[in-house]
Amino acid sequence: MRVLARFMMSVSDPSQFPAPVLPEVAFLGRSNVGKSSVINSLLGSKIAKTSSTPGRTRSINFFEVRWPGKPEAELIFTDLPGYGYAKISREISQQWPSFIDPYLKERPCLALCVALIDVNVPPQPADRALLDFLAEVGRPTLIVGTKSDKLSSNQLRNALQTLAREYPQSQILPFSAKTGAGRQELWQEIRNRTSDVGPQTSDLRPQTSDL
Ligand code: GDP
Repeated sequence: MRVLARFMMSVSDPSQFPAPVLPEVAFLGRSNVGKSSVINSLLGSKIAKTSSTPGRTRSINFFEVRWPGKPEAELIFTDLPGYGYAKISREISQQWPSFIDPYLKERPCLALCVALIDVNVPPQPADRALLDFLAEVGRPTLIVGTKSDKLSSNQLRNALQTLAREYPQSQILPFSAKTGAGRQELWQEIRNRTSDVGPQTSDLRPQTSDL
């Protein structure tokens, strides 16, 4: 699927979030999990810079997504800051930066959280903490197992089984930004999970003529 995407804004203050008009899909994961690569692969461009991009790393980046031939954007992707390795449960709950907590808890149009987990590493407390947090706040969540190309098919099957045991409530999709494996399936899932959360008020839609 080919889409057109446009960087909208980078926000670290809830008062600056765009009007909650379109369904949003949030991408979350530990630093270096391959989050930028997944977003770039889905959007077909290098729109999400690597995590080292100055000024964008501790903010939520909003991207409008439009399908060719359609006049207006239909979906928004949000790229959340990668979380670190240390003191993770505190980082994710109490110390989660003040703009992320309200975004995940209160954003009315947040339709799906895509939690990225590297299939090459054993289950991490940081990921557990994130998944628990999302369950607690009642967010629909999909796990994407990144960098699947680094494993043989047997190893990948085992890694996915381990993830499924660790997170029995969530659907898990393997993905490789390198080979494109899983891209179609992830798009399909995103479309399925956002199609019934359409815009509430069409005249509130943002102008997208410059997409
Ligand atoms: P982020 O920090 O989560 O945004 O991660 P990046 O997308 O910047 O990727 C981190 C590193 O993992 C980079 O060196 C990427 O080249 C590598 N990487 C990302 N996705 C894949 C993948 O699907 N396969 C492989 N083999 N490497 C990947």
